[in-house]
Amino acid sequence: MFNKILIANRGDVALRVLRACKEMGIQTVIVHSTADAESMPVRLADESVCIGPAASSESYLNIPSLVSAAAITGCDAVHPGVGFLAENADFADIVIAHGLAFIGPEPDHIRQMGDKVQAKISAAEAGLPLVPGSPGAVHTIEEAHKLAEGIGFPLLVKAASGGGGRGMKVALSADELSVAFSSARSEAKAAFGDDTVYLERYLDNPRHIEVQVIADSHGNAVHLGERECSVQRRHQKLFEEAPSPALTDVQRSHIGMIAAEATQKMGYLGVGTMEFLYQDGEFFFIEMNTRLQVEHPITEAITGIDLVTEQIKIAAGGVLPFTQDEVTFTGHAIECRINAEHPETFMPTPGKVEYYHAAGGAGVRVDTILYSGYKIPPYYDSLIAKLIVHGRDRDHALARLRLALQEFVVEPMPTTLDLHRRLVDADAIKTGNYSIKWLEQEFLTS
Ligand code: ADP
Repeated sequence: MFNKILIANRGDVALRVLRACKEMGIQTVIVHSTADAESMPVRLADESVCIGPAASSESYLNIPSLVSAAAITGCDAVHPGVGFLAENADFADIVIAHGLAFIGPEPDHIRQMGDKVQAKISAAEAGLPLVPGSPGAVHTIEEAHKLAEGIGFPLLVKAASGGGGRGMKVALSADELSVAFSSARSEAKAAFGDDTVYLERYLDNPRHIEVQVIADSHGNAVHLGERECSVQRRHQKLFEEAPSPALTDVQRSHIGMIAAEATQKMGYLGVGTMEFLYQDGEFFFIEMNTRLQVEHPITEAITGIDLVTEQIKIAAGGVLPFTQDEVTFTGHAIECRINAEHPETFMPTPGKVEYYHAAGGAGVRVDTILYSGYKIPPYYDSLIAKLIVHGRDRDHALARLRLALQEFVVEPMPTTLDLHRRLVDADAIKTGNYSIKWLEQEFLTS
């Protein structure tokens, strides 16, 4: 097992990893920017290293600073957390080249899944169902028109290096294809420095359902069930639940087994998430995230498995301590992402938290770096807390959620707590009958 881990991240995920390390008796080093010097992970870690100024390009994304911090503190492994460099294959390569373990998959898997064209090819080889689309990258508008005839409209032009919904354009008909093609390419070039695009059939009303997988270096791969993440705004998830209210047990174990088999065929290592769109009873793979997910606690709640300690043990060469048959699912879990954002305009609301009170009670978990007096910096992602509830069934989880949201206080700034308080009483949430369009096209417009 590792002696000392460098946590190359900030916020609630840094604290999440820190707690796992402490529980395992592993020493921790946290890196931080000048803006995060007072943060809770910095206060709680065994050691901390300031790696640069507030701008993440000069701190959390600064590979030489991160690797130097690991070297001078004598770490033997690096945990990249979620976001920043967690899916950067070059970072993983450099960490490994410096004799450190990277707590994540092999760099080649990160690279393969980071290129969506390559990811779809690998996914098809591993037996995953794909959204019908171009067989690979599409280079010219003539080629796009020719392929579009076979795929049909509406379709999406998507960036191979895309992320966060950028570099993605809908063409409703052949007339719109030229404009969609060139604007997706220029947006992709500007955002990712790569204008490679591909075509995919546009599903008009899907749900986003993802499967958590975990694999060790001894050939064992299992799935830990699915998460329903269709409540999204601008492709950002806000409210997630497990299991999905849309699936039957047969569908659930079917997609889980397909994902686990694909993970094993790929020779994948560590935790990963296969994202699917689900419409009219069919699943379509869209991408694989080669890291821990923000919403991992709902899987932990229903399986009782600690994904971060397992991730660390796997990186140290450990064998998965359970088989597929030994994974059991109990009850229902929901996560609300509480962002320092106005609940209607979604404008960021950084500033000093004058008063903070966390919800509590049976089945309630709060992952946050908040404390009264904490200054939410304006430089980073606006996620400030995750509220996770677990109940014996979906109605029980919703009842616990409603109560927890009433108890939760963050003052004085507006946060998405108010949005969640309204969401929990919406009919579509109560019935579980919503798609990825529901929040933006129905709930937020009503
Ligand atoms: P990103 O890396 O930007 O998150 P994804 O490929 O995962 O890109 O897509 C993000 C979101 O875009 C999905 O969660 C879904 O809401 C929507 N989306 C992606 N592909 C399709 C498609 N073929 N049809 C309809 N919606 C899609």
